[in-house]
Amino acid sequence: MQLHVTCLPGDGIGPEVTLQALRVLEAVVDGFGHDLELDEKGVGGAALTACGNPLPDATIQACLSSQAVLLGAVGGPAFDHYPRDLRPEAGLLRLRQELGAYANLRPAVFYPALRACSPLREEVVKGTDILIVRELLGGLYFGQPRSIEGAPGARQALNSMRYGEPEIERIARIGFGLARGRRKRVVSVDKSNVLECSRLWREVVTRVGSEFPDVQLSHMYVDSAAMALVLKPAGFDVLLTENMFGDILSDEVGGVVGSLGLLASASIGGKVGIYEPVHGSAPDIADQGIANPLGAILSVALMLRHGFGLSKEAECVEAGVISVLKAGMRTRDLAQPGERTVTTDAMGSKIAEFVQLAADGGR
Ligand code: NAD
Repeated sequence: MQLHVTCLPGDGIGPEVTLQALRVLEAVVDGFGHDLELDEKGVGGAALTACGNPLPDATIQACLSSQAVLLGAVGGPAFDHYPRDLRPEAGLLRLRQELGAYANLRPAVFYPALRACSPLREEVVKGTDILIVRELLGGLYFGQPRSIEGAPGARQALNSMRYGEPEIERIARIGFGLARGRRKRVVSVDKSNVLECSRLWREVVTRVGSEFPDVQLSHMYVDSAAMALVLKPAGFDVLLTENMFGDILSDEVGGVVGSLGLLASASIGGKVGIYEPVHGSAPDIADQGIANPLGAILSVALMLRHGFGLSKEAECVEAGVISVLKAGMRTRDLAQPGERTVTTDAMGSKIAEFVQLAADGGR
């Protein structure tokens, strides 16, 4: 199969982790007999520095003419003083919009080999396998009007949370559809006791849920869900939620399973899917060769599964991750005091090697 991918490394640890993700993708392509056409383009602070725009037209065009986008991360303190529209994060939001990627899938799985990394007791976190399905193009992050106005000392800030029925309906369908391939349970998260957007959310999700009688639907307020995720994470299957709640809860789940560095994401539903780790550009550890590349590598697995329908290849990458963790390889964020750590590069090359050997063995 011909895989046409645009890679947007971005800022901070973005280039370091995407380098390893590409290495693994190349091993898949070689090992399983596919062809890779790869474009690399600028996004975020890197593009802002190069051409004054965090999302240049050439980047959008390259993404639109490929089949999948592999993104690192954007942002950093060097860009925080830019006006909102020029900030790297604005480039990322616009990219999601341009590609129409409204469904953000964020799986979080507990790996027994990493039992020591979770702040929770093993009997609590054991069996955790959650798929967060987050609406990505609506809510507070995109709602208009938005502003900061007034004289210094008396300024007023405004953001708008806005959701339309079709937006809720389409993300709910994705959530229920994915639940069918899993344990057939959806928890829809909202704040319908306080917010109108959430009242509409609950009503529409319930209506869509009736089209999926084989999937069990329950509702939870976001505050209660935040607590339940820590008390009983293994009780969740698909967690369906709006943009900001999903953003916050998925970082929490990263902590629950051991490290934000492990989490991958797929943003789908539009013309081209975007596959990226959940973490940010981690400027505090950039350029030191210590970043955990697993979130980016597992994003390649999501790309293979959701972008190209290559489940066998996706499973092989996931097996590679489990294998290196079982073998005791730990980047600094995963290591316990006194444990030996490996570099970003060492972790990536071991997984690429695993994939190559597994593919050769399967021939
Ligand atoms: P962050 O995710 O970058 O980092 C949070 C903490 O987790 C840091 O201590 C960091 O060192 C650690 N961490 C993150 N990824 C790691 C990895 N792969 N390996 C090891 N440790 C890792 O979040 P932040 O510090 O709040 O944000 C930093 C910048 O990233 C900001 O400019 C923010 O706007 C941006 N950001 C971008 C994205 C994105 O590109 N999708 C997402 C979140 C934040």
